[in-house]
Amino acid sequence: MIILGVLSLLMSGGLILTYRSVSKEMALARLKSDFVSNVSHELRTPLSLIQLYAETLELGRITTQEKKEEYYRIIRKESERLGKLISNILDFSRIEAGRKEYDLRETDIAELVRNTLDTYRYQIEKNGFEFEMSIEQDIPEMRVDREAIARALLNLVNNALKYSADVKFLLVKLYRTNGTVKLEVVDRGIGIPRREQSKIFEKFYRTSDPLVHNTKGSGLGLSLVRHITHAHGGQVEVESTPGKGSKFTLSLPLTATGRIANDLASGAAAS
Ligand code: ADP
Repeated sequence: MIILGVLSLLMSGGLILTYRSVSKEMALARLKSDFVSNVSHELRTPLSLIQLYAETLELGRITTQEKKEEYYRIIRKESERLGKLISNILDFSRIEAGRKEYDLRETDIAELVRNTLDTYRYQIEKNGFEFEMSIEQDIPEMRVDREAIARALLNLVNNALKYSADVKFLLVKLYRTNGTVKLEVVDRGIGIPRREQSKIFEKFYRTSDPLVHNTKGSGLGLSLVRHITHAHGGQVEVESTPGKGSKFTLSLPLTATGRIANDLASGAAAS
């Protein structure tokens, strides 16, 4: 009886484990196929716009200088969007293949954040956002990969713009506290339900909100943000209330020496 009992316990355990791993694989396969269709859609939209506006200009149908400038602007903006998406996908594939390397150098992080936001300010304000930037004075230089930190920040800012509906507000804060430098990106957008807050950092994951469904995205941005932050020995957190807004905080340790950060960078790339 005891042997039979043990055997049936083992069998049920095995069945449960198999079921769990099969459903995990199925969920991943579903996410991957959503990803492929999202990305193809995201690539196709700017490409068709660029083609349309370039052809119209080429045909010489546009007579006013103002209209021409508007069309050039659209072409530039859409190419930038394509560029950003392609960089995200390339970074993602490097990470997946364990080939992502971070170039850590002494950097004035306050200047990096200010510059990155300044180049994006026009787009933020043009989208009708009230934009606040608060950067503390005297933040010491830190060893970071400039491009990676700028990309993480832009992914967060871009999400705040994409996932805000009625109240369009964006705050970016950089400050120092207890041996860490914190970079906060705050919005008053649609928010994220508690049960989904840990999942949004997984690759391909997108929440079930209808606005998210109707907004273009690949589900890669936050997984990149998390990878970049871990590679710098830091962490990323989210606080969010559905309907009220979200706050994403990157904490980067000030004390992380080059060695720690470098070890983490290669460790993270290998994982
Ligand atoms: P993408 O934006 O391409 O879908 P991300 O990895 O950047 O991918 O984000 C994953 C998901 O997390 C988004 O699809 C969205 O559901 C949710 N999300 C991210 N940022 C925000 C935000 N600021 N407000 C509300 N939801 C967000």
